[in-house]
Amino acid sequence: MHDQELLQERAKLIERNKELTCLYEIAKIAADTGKPFPEVLRAILAVLPPAFQHPDKTGARITVGDLTFATEGFAASPHTIREALIIHGRSQGAIEVVYRRAIDTGDHFLPEERELLKTIARQSALMIEKKLANDKQLELESQLRHADRLAKIGQLTAGVAHELNEPLASILGFAQLAVKKIDSSEVAAGYLDRIIHACLHARETIRKMMLFSSPMPHHKAEVDLNQLIAEGMSFIEPRFAQSGIRFECAFDPDLPTIIADAAQITQVLVNLVINAIHAMPAGGTLTLKTVAVPDKARMIVQDTGIGMDAQTIDQIFLPFFTTKDVDQGTGLGLSVVHGIVAAHCGTIDVQSQQGQGAAFIITLPAYGEKQAQ
Ligand code: ADP
Repeated sequence: MHDQELLQERAKLIERNKELTCLYEIAKIAADTGKPFPEVLRAILAVLPPAFQHPDKTGARITVGDLTFATEGFAASPHTIREALIIHGRSQGAIEVVYRRAIDTGDHFLPEERELLKTIARQSALMIEKKLANDKQLELESQLRHADRLAKIGQLTAGVAHELNEPLASILGFAQLAVKKIDSSEVAAGYLDRIIHACLHARETIRKMMLFSSPMPHHKAEVDLNQLIAEGMSFIEPRFAQSGIRFECAFDPDLPTIIADAAQITQVLVNLVINAIHAMPAGGTLTLKTVAVPDKARMIVQDTGIGMDAQTIDQIFLPFFTTKDVDQGTGLGLSVVHGIVAAHCGTIDVQSQQGQGAAFIITLPAYGEKQAQ
């Protein structure tokens, strides 16, 4: 009898030790703030079965929002205990523990185990809450850093463009004067033509650099984005057939008007569409959509092309960033788009994955909302 009691005490101590180890492991996971969110969930999952009486027969599943992870071979079982994960005061998921096969003892989960799962769910919910807040903060900081970096590059680009513009204008002007002073049959006339040609090319690059550094809209007027897109596309549309591209349009008839420089917004559209065409060398579908959102008008340019990885997306708005061949891209198209959209107090979102196409979402304030000064 005495031995029996000792054995029971020993078994209880072993169980208690397992519980404490589990809680210690959860605390360790919480302390490692650098882990990506799915890794955190997987780590919580891994410490669950060993904390129960029959680890080899125990499965576990954790669900948060649309993320679900389960231990290998997890299957629904009548022997299940479940605790909700209360995050920000709302049930946003659950932790479940199951016995895969019926346990002979009949008493499937000990009261201590039920309590333990409650504690684990509470601790995990707290940890997830902190983790989500932390991730959001990091994302905001990274967006701010990105915006700040672009603004600094914008200032630098504007400075360089301005400094180059003056001497370039002189070179171009004098070359044009000189070419008039000499006979067109002279060899030097050919050289001067080349100088003029190179100057015009450089002037175009400088113009784009200036557009990147937040250009002021010159001719602001009330603009119907649907109409502007329809007109802009009528020039580009003939290119689609020869490139094997299907063109689809979905205009929101309730789109509010915007106050904008129509020429600049057309430039945004053209740059995005040209990129979409380049991204679909084997053909595909280009979709242009407009959507009314509260106090804003949205334009979406979507393609089914090669798409981009996260590292590329991070750099696309930098002037001179290009993944195209030297004669195909200057890396200024999206910098110009960024500059123009920023000058119109708008935002650009990019959704893309390698091989899955890309969508550029431009959102501009509706007429009457805050506009560029
Ligand atoms: P460029 O087109 O001259 O390279 P951009 O600034 O317009 O310059 O674009 C920068 C880069 O962004 C491109 O080289 C390409 O890698 C990427 N990119 C832009 N639009 C798309 C798109 N629709 N699909 C895939 N990649 C794109």
